[in-house]
Amino acid sequence: MATDISFITSLKKELKEKIRKLLSEEEAEIAARDAHAKRSPRPCGLTIHTSIGCVYQCRYCYIYDMGFKPTITPYPLTGIQLVYALLLNKYFIPSANGTYLAIGSVSEPFHLLVKEKTIEYIKAIYTYLGNPVQFSTKAFISKYDAEKIAKASNNKISPLITIITMSNWHNLEPYAPTPEKRLETVRNLREAGLKPFLFIRPIIPGVTDREFKEIIDLGGEYGAVGVVAGGLRVTKNILEKLREAGANVGEILRRLRVPPEKMKPGMQYEINVADIKTEIQRYARKKGLVYFPSACMANLYTHGMFCWRMMLYNVKGHDLKKPSQSEISNLLREMNFKPHNIVIGQSTIVAEGTCSGCDPIMISEIVKHSYKICLKLHIKRNMK
Ligand code: SF4
Repeated sequence: MATDISFITSLKKELKEKIRKLLSEEEAEIAARDAHAKRSPRPCGLTIHTSIGCVYQCRYCYIYDMGFKPTITPYPLTGIQLVYALLLNKYFIPSANGTYLAIGSVSEPFHLLVKEKTIEYIKAIYTYLGNPVQFSTKAFISKYDAEKIAKASNNKISPLITIITMSNWHNLEPYAPTPEKRLETVRNLREAGLKPFLFIRPIIPGVTDREFKEIIDLGGEYGAVGVVAGGLRVTKNILEKLREAGANVGEILRRLRVPPEKMKPGMQYEINVADIKTEIQRYARKKGLVYFPSACMANLYTHGMFCWRMMLYNVKGHDLKKPSQSEISNLLREMNFKPHNIVIGQSTIVAEGTCSGCDPIMISEIVKHSYKICLKLHIKRNMK
């Protein structure tokens, strides 16, 4: 269903005014200064931080290179303040058809010290905005908390339970709950009426490729509906930590796209695990589970929605209409992008053209949420 830019603008204005009335001047000012009011969306949606720092100290985690500490504290905003901050974010599109929200990218949202804050945020988002929310976790979530999470999200939220090894977790994820406890989380969330996915990310070559079958078998037994698999990014520091943890760093280096001596301090480098992802996909499907290569697709799936890319993974959409060249062209022009060439592919649109004061992130978001298809913009320099 196409989204009208003026409709988004007026919906945002209306919601902003409504939520502003629920806040004091000071609370509104704090929300307006918060990073959630300014952050750009990532490919899988806008990240929501319900806590700061993480005590689990996974050896492959990049948050410590980003300056986060191995401690955990609840995020300082209230749920209503968070909603207000999102409405002030120029990239945020409210509604079930709008921006995907992802909780748990730089912390553990269901650690004992922060889980109440996370549930408060989930409830506020579903009450006032209705956007699709997803969380990733390694925590043990009790039956009681699983029911609270389901209720706060009207049984819609998309849970991803991270398990990348059954045997090596004490080296790689030394302070996280055991994989067995995480499987219990899967079961509790499923019994609460949610649709948990196994999150096999990051795939650690030399570890996860040997264990994914066991993980998927167990996940299926405990009630996972599907699997999302994702790659590994390393910094020099992470490589060192993985080496100390006894991982097969030689196998990781073999898959690194740059010579290790050329790695710059603090910079993240992707490890090529496409072959392992393919094997995981094949096995998950063989076991009757849904498979997606990215988290946002699981988010849509659990909310009963579809995108064009999901069709490539045997998920059929009911109400998707492929945009025409002229619809895309008009929409791009409305946002100050003059297209010279538009290719509408099976799951992506590629548009090449010139930009006069346009905002490429905004354009991608509007196209994505209007037509449930990803856009790649190639901006040519204006020749004078
Ligand atoms: S649980 Fe997540 S955020 Fe925490 S250390 Fe592990 S990977 Fe990082």
